[in-house]
Amino acid sequence: MIEEMKAVTVYGPGDIRMETVKLRPLKPDEMLIKVAYTGICATDLAIYTGECSFVKSGQIKYPCRIGHEWSGIVCECGSEVKNFKPGDRVITDNGVSCGYCEKCLEGDYGNCLNNKSVGTIDCWDGCFAEYMYMPERHTYHIDDSMSLKDAALVEPMSIALAGIKKYDITSDSRVAVIGTGAIGIGAAVLAKHLGAKQVIIVGRGKAKLESALKCGIDAAVSTHDGDVVKQVMTLTDGEGVDFTIETSGGEETIMNSVHITKKHGTIALLAFYEKMINNFDIDAFVGKEQIIKGVMGEFGLVEKAGKIMEQGLPLNGIITHEIPFAECVDFIRNYKDTASTRIKALVKFD
Ligand SMILES: [Zn+2]
Ligand SMILES: [Zn+2]
Repeated sequence: MIEEMKAVTVYGPGDIRMETVKLRPLKPDEMLIKVAYTGICATDLAIYTGECSFVKSGQIKYPCRIGHEWSGIVCECGSEVKNFKPGDRVITDNGVSCGYCEKCLEGDYGNCLNNKSVGTIDCWDGCFAEYMYMPERHTYHIDDSMSLKDAALVEPMSIALAGIKKYDITSDSRVAVIGTGAIGIGAAVLAKHLGAKQVIIVGRGKAKLESALKCGIDAAVSTHDGDVVKQVMTLTDGEGVDFTIETSGGEETIMNSVHITKKHGTIALLAFYEKMINNFDIDAFVGKEQIIKGVMGEFGLVEKAGKIMEQGLPLNGIITHEIPFAECVDFIRNYKDTASTRIKALVKFD
């Protein structure tokens, strides 16, 4: 029996601490899972700084045990767990249903009336910790072919998939992705995987754009090389793209999305902006009769993204940093130092 563990909690803006916490008894439908890798997400950093809109709205409360991107190995199983045993390699959903409300009793866990989000809103204690509790209904086996390290990318890939699945991508589609974080590059890789004719990624730093090209994306456009809209228009023979996926969270990129997308095209916003947006050229948008969709992750996509990744996606180059758990608090405090090179930083547990 393991009695205590080290875990990282944000107590308020700028106040992050690693501490020793006691483990509680396992519920019958739960497993205790030893965390192998945890991804550091922009949302974790925004909770740490206090800039996160959900902190401001009161939906994320301190203290908050952050972390929602992870993989691990089953350690103990509750008495009702049927399909897992100690030693199994797993990933999980990023939300945890209650299991007893009317929706849960119908098996509709995605619409649970008492849902908790892992490491964020109505916080289910997150994965900046040596162990996680998770009900069996939210846990998935991973194939032997997938490493625990790659498995920690499944959750951000599930968000990328949420953006991509809004589109009917065909071999005629041109797609632009704005943003070179893990979700941006992931969305671009998925668009290629689904057979898009042309996928263009737009970003700032050359190093991250180079990593994106290594993942098989057709073209990269840098804001350092002049007008982004002109560059995309040139690459698309003056047509613009059918679909744009905006993942950067930058205010000006929403307007660029309108300009680089064709008439009747669709734009998915797959980021949080953490502020109100001004200077939106609404008439350009209306004139092009476009659709802008706000997109969040949704229940069921972690399992689907895991299955797609098991087919082998070219995601090499996304993991730019690997930090031992003991050093992760320092890494988060100094996260600005790695901003220009960091795509996905993973925390590795012993
Ligand atoms: Zn995330
Ligand atoms: Zn429920």
